[in-house]
This record gives sequence, C-alpha cells and structure tokens, in this order.
Amino acid sequence: MGFSPDLHDSDMNFRCPGCERAVVRKGLWIKSAKVFVCDTCNTQTPLTYGLKLAIFDAHLHSNDPLILSAYKNSRRQ
Ligand SMILES: [Zn+2]
Repeated sequence: MGFSPDLHDSDMNFRCPGCERAVVRKGLWIKSAKVFVCDTCNTQTPLTYGLKLAIFDAHLHSNDPLILSAYKNSRRQ
C-alpha cells in the first residue's frame, strides 16, 4: 500500500481538526508536505505517513472528507 502516482494530480479533500473547514489539496502536495497549517484558524497538523495514507484511502473509499482529528482520536497506538 502506498501513494499511487495516478493520484498526484487528484484533488484530495479533508477537514481541519480546528475549525472543520473543508480543505482541498493535490495528491502530490499531501505526499510531500510535512505539516498542514489551516488558513482559517492556523491550527497546525503534522502530516504523518499514516495520516497521509488515511487521506488517500478516504479519497478512494469514502464520500466524506476525512476529519484529521477524528483520525487521530481513533488511531490505535
Ligand atoms: Zn482550521
């Protein structure tokens, strides 16, 4: 499992954990970015490898944008 190059130019949707605003970024941005900083509330969310995979996975399998905080809260350590 990984980041398909086919998705580099695809729009990925997710939601800020601070204000739940919907955000759109290209797949390539998701893959290369280290942190997401919200334009609206300035919340900084580290984009871990697992979180990036979850965003890609949500893009492929879900109609709802992933809420980053929901992922973090449900993640098993
Ligand atoms: Zn925000």
